[in-house]
Amino acid sequence: MLKRFLFFLLCQGIGGSLGWLEAGSWGACIGASLAAWAWFSWDLWRGVRVVNWLRHGDLAQAPRLSGMWGEVADRARRLVRQGQAQARAGDARLQEILEALQASPNGVMLLDAEGHIEWCNQMAEQHFGINAERDRLQSIGNLVRDPEFSAYYATRNFTHDLVLQGRDSTPSRPVRISVHLHPYGDGRKLMLSRDVTALEQADAMRRDFVANVSHEIRTPLTVLMGFVETLQTLQLSSDEQSRYLRMMSQQAERMQKLVQDLLALSRLEGSPLPGMHEWVAVAQLLHYCEEEARALSAMLNQGDEERQHQIVFPTSEQAQAAGQIAGIAAELQSALVNLVNNAVRYTPPGGRITVAWDVLRDGGARFSVTDTGPGIEPEHLPRITERFYRVDRSRSRGTGGTGLGLSIVKHVVQRHGATLHISSEVGQGSIFSVDFPAARLRAPERSEQCASAGVTDVLRGASAV
Ligand code: ADP
Repeated sequence: MLKRFLFFLLCQGIGGSLGWLEAGSWGACIGASLAAWAWFSWDLWRGVRVVNWLRHGDLAQAPRLSGMWGEVADRARRLVRQGQAQARAGDARLQEILEALQASPNGVMLLDAEGHIEWCNQMAEQHFGINAERDRLQSIGNLVRDPEFSAYYATRNFTHDLVLQGRDSTPSRPVRISVHLHPYGDGRKLMLSRDVTALEQADAMRRDFVANVSHEIRTPLTVLMGFVETLQTLQLSSDEQSRYLRMMSQQAERMQKLVQDLLALSRLEGSPLPGMHEWVAVAQLLHYCEEEARALSAMLNQGDEERQHQIVFPTSEQAQAAGQIAGIAAELQSALVNLVNNAVRYTPPGGRITVAWDVLRDGGARFSVTDTGPGIEPEHLPRITERFYRVDRSRSRGTGGTGLGLSIVKHVVQRHGATLHISSEVGQGSIFSVDFPAARLRAPERSEQCASAGVTDVLRGASAV
């Protein structure tokens, strides 16, 4: 400022001096006034340049000026740059927040005070079938037309969430979406949505499971109670007594088998996946299955050889050639025996059961059980591995079935990276096969060293499933 003032005085001094030289004291006054006007005009012109630059110019390129106006322009340019940098940082931050909201597995929607959509992520687009661009500033009430949602929105009581039927819901594949509104700011709302179909299904399955288990236990329990009451109240001959006790023991065995299978299932669900360090000889598994199948056939046909099933297994050479499989011996054994035993249980006396072990083209192997039993109608096949699902209830119970066998098989097979296939033709029979991946198999040469574990070791492991 001092420089500016001194420069002004200098201009006046020069103007006054020149005027005095030309026309004496009047000349000095006129010269000083002209110099002052010249100085003001020059200063005004500089100020106008700065204002024009601020109004219309490139804010990054300030006019090159010295003195006070130069400093004003420079400071303005710095403030503008600072503001631009802050705006860029704010934009980047906002972008990051929006990207994070986009990545959310839940639907996120921002509504203004009038319920118009300001922004929503892709998940919300999917849940409500809207388009974030197209439907921006549309009223949510016009887009989500479910009467339950309208009532929820109208009550303005957002302390709880609301479960709606999803857009793509069909009777066979229901989709359930949970919606929760959270008010914020001046009347705005954050609407969160998430797909709760799996949760609801799990809940329904849990309820069904408890109901099924209670039903399965109640039936033999009621029979047992009836026998106990009969034994307590009636005078029975020793023959009758032992017949009743035999029947009681059968019911108790049925309950025991059910509890064993339930425990097996829960163990399968809770234990770590089978690694690649435990190897089981396929020959041992096949040998055990064969023993079990023959014993079961003899038991079901009460030792009558003519009624017994024709059971065909690979020869011991073929079984030896099958090598080894990586997995948990007890689990594998329980799954394969379940399939073979089912074939025996559901195939009428004299029927044929063929068990095979085949090498697949991709290096994997297939264990298959083919029977000449009654077969299964195609509509049952998709549900047959569900817990407690039975096609023929009376036959299942009559032969000691719990309805959990195939469910156990499915779990074991999945845990070993294998796949279960079922094909069946009513009146012709069924084929249950398990395809093991090549990665879990190894050739017989290396298996010889480990084969010493022997059949009995595998059998011992069975109780662990
Ligand atoms: P269960 O203990 O009742 O045998 P599973 O889970 O082992 O239970 O089998 C489920 C149902 O599948 C059985 O109730 C039976 O109706 C049917 N099933 C299983 N294996 C066969 C088979 N080899 N032939 C015909 N039906 C079968």
